Amino acid sequence: MLLSDKFGRPITDLRIAITDRCNYKCVYCRTGSEGALYGDLPFDDYLRMARILAGLGINKVRLTGGEPLLRRGIVDFVRDLSQLRSSEGNRLDIALTTNGHLLADMAQPLKDAGLDRVTVSMDAVDPDRFARITRVPGGYDHVLAGIHAAKRAGLNPVKVNCVLLRGFNEDQIIPFGMFAREEGVVLRFIEFMPLEEDRVWSRDVVVTLDEILKRMAEYRPLIEIPHARSETARRYRFDDGLGEIGIIAPVSHPFCGHCSRIRITSDGKIRTCLFSVRDHDLHARMRRGASDSELETYIRDVVLQKEERHHIGEPDFVPASRTMVHIGG
Ligand code: SAM
Repeated sequence: MLLSDKFGRPITDLRIAITDRCNYKCVYCRTGSEGALYGDLPFDDYLRMARILAGLGINKVRLTGGEPLLRRGIVDFVRDLSQLRSSEGNRLDIALTTNGHLLADMAQPLKDAGLDRVTVSMDAVDPDRFARITRVPGGYDHVLAGIHAAKRAGLNPVKVNCVLLRGFNEDQIIPFGMFAREEGVVLRFIEFMPLEEDRVWSRDVVVTLDEILKRMAEYRPLIEIPHARSETARRYRFDDGLGEIGIIAPVSHPFCGHCSRIRITSDGKIRTCLFSVRDHDLHARMRRGASDSELETYIRDVVLQKEERHHIGEPDFVPASRTMVHIGG
């Protein structure tokens, strides 16, 4: 029996954070003074988890962190992941989310090892603004070189994720639209969620889907195109058929009803929702010598506890027990 939760949602997507460390200190994500809080595991442990989960119905694996490219051995890990087979006997779809700083030299080796796709996080298309957001000087050119290398390597479609914050980078909407058309990348705007270390989130700071569409229309109108039910992004093209822009709107247009994801943190805990208030220690069971079938039983039980939905902006909202950088987005 394939994994599904008690609301009947099939669980097919796995995100694994392979490190809790990050080389950027993005203002909306981190305090700037704190580093990694959690350890990481030998790759063989993540591989065993992924193998067991693939047997239970997972068919997509996304590597994230922290910053996954900081982890030495990631290329070999991708190669090992590419040998796994889903419950239907197919190879897994393997993707990576990265800040792109180290991507230029790694894109081709990762592709050769079996990586299918890459998403690069980038919150401004202006070098100075980019440095103010990441709090690291000179990163913009590295990231741009990373995007170009990913395209050359065929890690398509190369996606670029941008989190918008009111009063900070919402003026980047149109420049990002132009960037997506010129560079031939798929752009994804993501609504800011209350998952930051500093707990500064408020609904007023969120630049919503409707606002993004309105602002972009001042440049060129966007026309909605169909998206798969389980896809997090609503998808659009410009009215001349060029460019692809997605908007991931968990705050203004939640999509929890179609959620197909679970996450494994760098220290081997399962999280059933970004907003979970507890996690489930899969690695502790492995350390104690659990067999594959015992781990399968445990995972099935954990998945049954998956939350129905998040409560962002509601009076009963309880902050998640970890912030984004320590979960893996
Ligand atoms: N270091 C990698 C990167 O930069 O893509 C992977 C980890 S990062 C935590 C994953 C994604 O989460 C990034 O695209 C980042 O912009 C996004 N993110 C971080 N904090 C967020 C928040 N509070 N709301 C929405 N997205 C957030």
